[in-house]
Amino acid sequence: MKRLNMKGLKQLLILTLCVLPLIFNAQITKPEVTEVWDPEPRTVNTMNDIPEDAIILFNGEDLNAWQGRWDKEVAQWKVEDGAMTVVKGTGDIMTKDNFGSCQLHVEWRTPAEVVNEGQLRGNSGVFLQSRYEVQVLDSYMNRTYSNGQAGSIYKQHLPLVNACRPPGEWQSYDIIFTAPVFNQDSMKIVPAYMTVIQNGVVIQNHVEIYGTTEYIGMPKNPMHGPSPIVLQDHGDPVSYRNIWIRKLD
Ligand code: MG
Repeated sequence: MKRLNMKGLKQLLILTLCVLPLIFNAQITKPEVTEVWDPEPRTVNTMNDIPEDAIILFNGEDLNAWQGRWDKEVAQWKVEDGAMTVVKGTGDIMTKDNFGSCQLHVEWRTPAEVVNEGQLRGNSGVFLQSRYEVQVLDSYMNRTYSNGQAGSIYKQHLPLVNACRPPGEWQSYDIIFTAPVFNQDSMKIVPAYMTVIQNGVVIQNHVEIYGTTEYIGMPKNPMHGPSPIVLQDHGDPVSYRNIWIRKLD
């Protein structure tokens, strides 16, 4: 009897080891097991190619969403024919609102009349969180250092390709920005990342931002939170239009 029981136990064990995986496999081969129904992504429609949940930062009519970067006074750039244009010496402008991770659409145009060369031809810039510059420059047949040409993350990442249109033509940047994360000791624990599409061409593919944009020296990483979008006055009459942003926080 004792031997029979042991044999029975063995058979039961073997049966269990064989059958359980079959039951388990039957479970995970059902397509429903890996379907996610909740939450359901909300609907975002677009009108004139602008997502309905976008915040309009410039619609061609006024600079109400902007102010001077340094004096916090009324932005002094010229608004004309649906575009805003840098007025040399009036300084950078920045949004009144602060932003973190975002999707930013900006259209820009360097002057049709070509003067100077290198960094002095149609220079401006789009700064995410007031610190991280996507370079705006007339880089159409205008050689400069690669990590300073249009579409570079200035002094950090050269663009994958040169997608620039000739001077005087409108171009677009679609920027996907993931904000950096700092801990309670003010240390950066997750870097920022950027993807940039210029005129429909990927020129930055999820690149890591090493820190602040610096003309001289290495990037720095002071702690900060959500901050304004800044457009640069580099002395050239660069124009902008159709600027909108979607928060991704
Ligand atoms: Mg610049």
